[in-house]
Order: sequence, then structure tokens, then C-alpha cells
Amino acid sequence: MVASRSARERKAAIEAGPLAKVKIDVGADQQFVYKVSCTVCTAKGDRPWSAYRPGDDNGFMAAMDRWIFHLKEKHPDAEAPCLAYLPAAQQRLHERRAALDARG
Ligand SMILES: [Zn+2]
Repeated sequence: MVASRSARERKAAIEAGPLAKVKIDVGADQQFVYKVSCTVCTAKGDRPWSAYRPGDDNGFMAAMDRWIFHLKEKHPDAEAPCLAYLPAAQQRLHERRAALDARG
């Protein structure tokens, strides 16, 4: 059974920790779009820093990876359950880079 959008949103918010704001939209093709924004940082144009990734579990993982790297870089003292996934996130980043290299 697929968890509802709001249940996924709550779960993602808990994992992302207190600095994050997590929102799940439903895209035009009915797939989820995960948005993780930082409640502290602003990016260009005074908009909050955010990671925006479409896809159900893929989107969750990709948005959360981006958020984990953001936390490590900008908020090294922050605590969040998702930081437990840092080694896995780094491994995925490494694999993506390796795949790009292989493609030339
Ligand atoms: Zn931040």
C-alpha cells in the first residue's frame, strides 16, 4: 500500500530535522514532487534555499541527499535523523559521478 502524501510529508519532515521545511506536491503526471527548503538559508533573490525533486521514492531520496549535503556544508552542528544516511548519500553521489564519467 502506498502511503498517503501527508503521511510521506510528515515522515520526510521528521527525517529532515528541525531546520527543514518539507512539502510534497503532486505533479502534472500524478507523481510526487518533493521539496525540502531550509528555514535559515536564502539562495539567490532572497528565496529560501530548497531542493526540488520529482518522483516517489526516487524523489524523496534525491531531495533528501541534497538536503543532507546542505546540512553538512552549511549547518555542521545541526542534528537531524537524515544525517545517518550521509554515507549512503555520498555513495550515491559517487556512483552518479562515476556514471557520468563512463558516459564521457
Ligand atoms: Zn541552510
